[in-house]
Amino acid sequence: MQFSDLGLTPELLKAIEEQGYSEPTPVQRKAIPPILLGRDVMAAAQTGTGKTASFTLPMLQRLKGHANTSVSPARHPVRALILAPTRELAAQVEESARTYGKHIPLRVASVFGGVPIDPQIAALRAGVEILVATPGRLLDHIQSKAVMFHAVEFLVLDEADRMLDMGFLPDIKRIIAMLPPKRQTLLFSATYSDEIRKLAGQWLHDPAQVEVAPRNAVTETVTHTVYKVDSRAKRDALVRLLRDRDMKQVLVFCNTKIGANRLAYRLQKDDLNAAAIHSDRTQAERMQALAEFKEGKVRILVATDIAARGLDIEQLPFVVNFDVPSNPEDYVHRIGRTGRAGLTGEAISLVASEDREYLAAVEKLIKKKLRVCDMPALERAAPKKMERAERTRPDAASRDIDPLFHQPYVSAVPSKPKPASDSKALGTVTKRKKEKQIAALFLPPASKPDA
Ligand code: AMP
Repeated sequence: MQFSDLGLTPELLKAIEEQGYSEPTPVQRKAIPPILLGRDVMAAAQTGTGKTASFTLPMLQRLKGHANTSVSPARHPVRALILAPTRELAAQVEESARTYGKHIPLRVASVFGGVPIDPQIAALRAGVEILVATPGRLLDHIQSKAVMFHAVEFLVLDEADRMLDMGFLPDIKRIIAMLPPKRQTLLFSATYSDEIRKLAGQWLHDPAQVEVAPRNAVTETVTHTVYKVDSRAKRDALVRLLRDRDMKQVLVFCNTKIGANRLAYRLQKDDLNAAAIHSDRTQAERMQALAEFKEGKVRILVATDIAARGLDIEQLPFVVNFDVPSNPEDYVHRIGRTGRAGLTGEAISLVASEDREYLAAVEKLIKKKLRVCDMPALERAAPKKMERAERTRPDAASRDIDPLFHQPYVSAVPSKPKPASDSKALGTVTKRKKEKQIAALFLPPASKPDA
């Protein structure tokens, strides 16, 4: 299904296209049609499922008729009120509404605590159609008469369960009591407790029910591979993987903008076709990098989590976590970029000792123990030696199966020939012979132990 099949207007389709989304997520597919029809909706969907767009897009469409460029505040009353539990979420929803509504002249603002109130009052007095708010700060504005609700047509309760957990119910009840009863109400909640159901029964009218898979469900079609790598050897490890696994298109995640920039730059210096996308790059630069990556002109796209949100690349076979994300949910987002639509994919993580703690958090979240494998001894072998060794070694598949080759680069690349006393310690002659044979496979002739 395409976004255009959902009946969205060209302005919204254009904004969606600019975001690089190719198809609606399940919650968008299920929630957008009833909202467009004017129905109340009760949706069980968490952050990460695309839920913000699922209510923002149809809401913008239904409010489009009110869009105007007048400077008069009276022409911009609050039409939609979105209540959210935290300032981060409120800011994020505001940003989404601006992004999706960029071709429709409706005003958007958010109000939340912890920041000066005066600029918020000024924004409210100037007039705003879509207001995103945390309940406590909104009540402050109501008290100071900075905001009126007579024209509200939409109420969205985002992360309703979290708002209840945070003790906002009395505030929400007070706010709802001030809204016009004839309105469209949308309730989004990660979980449905009895209390949420009861409140939904009071606040919503004959709601359409929408449910989608929880965000922490990682797709079964993705294989997770975890390599233990010294942090200084990660780039070499990546280069090695690119070559060994014949990666033609790979999305590589770094935790920081600086890290992503540095990695892309160094890969480019190694004559590898890499580009970086992160929030310091302009939207145009990001779009270009993404387009080139999709077309196959760029082989390695190095991204941060923020920039990669919403990236949808068809048939992406590999995702590499150059850094394990500090927020475990990002792991789910990252690997969700591969193995889409039933296709198989592989998520490879390079784990240094400092990443271990993050890996444990990921395992806890996805309820899966990930086996940590040794990376072929990149830390020890100089790249040139590896090149030579590569031409003579057996193919990658046999390495995986044959236990002799399981850690070949670790055991078989001594920097110097073993002294005789060591040979004794190794045990039988057969074992020694085996070692030499293995070494011979991986070392250039000049550095063979027996040369
Ligand atoms: P949300 O669940 O609203 O927090 O959205 C999670 C992320 O998914 C956001 O970064 C959105 O930009 C992104 N997103 C929303 N809709 C889509 C889509 N149809 N395709 C790809 N990414 C999307």
